[in-house]
Amino acid sequence: METIYLDYNSTTPVDPEVIKVMQHALAENYGNPSSVHTLGQKSKTAIDAAREKIASLLGAKATEIYFTSGGTEADNLALKGAAIALRKKGNHIITSKIEHHAVLESGNYLEKNGFEVTYLSCDKDGVVSVDDLRQAIRPETTVVSIMMANNETGSIQPIKEMVAVCHEAGVLFHTDAVQAMGKIPVNVEETKVDMMSLSAHKFYGPKGIGVLYIRSKTPVAPLLHGGSHERRMRAGTENIASIIGMAKALEIAVDKLEGEHQRLTDLSEYFIDRVKTEVGEVYLNGPVENRVPSTVNLSFKGVEGEAIILSLDLKGIAVSSGSACTSGSLQVSHVLEAMDADTLLAQGSIRFSMGRYTTKEQLDYTVSVLPEIINRLRAMSATYQKAD
Ligand SMILES: *Cc1c(COP(=O)(O)O)cnc(C)c1O
Repeated sequence: METIYLDYNSTTPVDPEVIKVMQHALAENYGNPSSVHTLGQKSKTAIDAAREKIASLLGAKATEIYFTSGGTEADNLALKGAAIALRKKGNHIITSKIEHHAVLESGNYLEKNGFEVTYLSCDKDGVVSVDDLRQAIRPETTVVSIMMANNETGSIQPIKEMVAVCHEAGVLFHTDAVQAMGKIPVNVEETKVDMMSLSAHKFYGPKGIGVLYIRSKTPVAPLLHGGSHERRMRAGTENIASIIGMAKALEIAVDKLEGEHQRLTDLSEYFIDRVKTEVGEVYLNGPVENRVPSTVNLSFKGVEGEAIILSLDLKGIAVSSGSACTSGSLQVSHVLEAMDADTLLAQGSIRFSMGRYTTKEQLDYTVSVLPEIINRLRAMSATYQKAD
């Protein structure tokens, strides 16, 4: 049985074109880019070309692109690096309750080390308010980090307005754009963000590689010390094949963005309608408009998310509940909690995330097995009482 993969927000399959360029790079570009000899310089040239390509696709300069080991490291570097570099100016940082754990835990770490962190809440649709941000800024605030699109609900945040508020107050703005890349337009000239995190494996590239965009002259202290790689921002011999693969993946993702956005909008609307009709007592978490269409977070009344995941898995369908990091425990997702969602409903939340290889047939199959699964689980449920 072929797996029906509806967990693209956790990770994506690697594009065959990306595999091809990576295989070539692994075989051919083994020279160390820091070496002076021809083989080393060949690798350096390949990395430079990838950096140029990525920069131009993001509206950035090549010197503003820093390669990291992924989205987590990019988030850590942005938050901790800027907070430490600006420590003399102030010790206050602002982020939100709906961020990825890479940002939340970086905030926690900074709190344990003498910084103050404000975690902004969100509305019932999972959107952080620009006014709340404006009011939270203090004279000692140095960095604000708000994600572009949320990984659990797909809610899109008002980044441009937030950047304007921060810049007026002389505060740096970082955004985690990991879930936005390839799904909505992402351009640093457009948004004017100072820092931005990306992760290749969320846009059909390899795992373990990402980017932190850092606008020229933005003060950021490195976290990894050693050689002078990445203009002294991040020591360690470059992951050449992955960097080249990521550039290819980004090129393809940007090229396909418009068509995929429309296709996935249509598919997700179709899916939501059909699940609501076929199953009943199903609620969409997150905004109806203004979200990444491929993320469909649904709460099934009276059932636990984990039980649904396991039942769907037996039918060959891969989904997640909330964030993959918190699954395995019955804890309600921190994002749904911040949205003030009903606790029982939140426990029955499932994230269906669609992508490049999702078809209508796959969704039809998913809808065809859902009623039996949900009815069986509801029949056993202590918390489910059918409304008359
Ligand atoms: C996946 C994800 C990350 C972490 O990226 P990795 O490359 O897996 O470390 C960070 N932020 C968001 C929003 C994500 O979805």
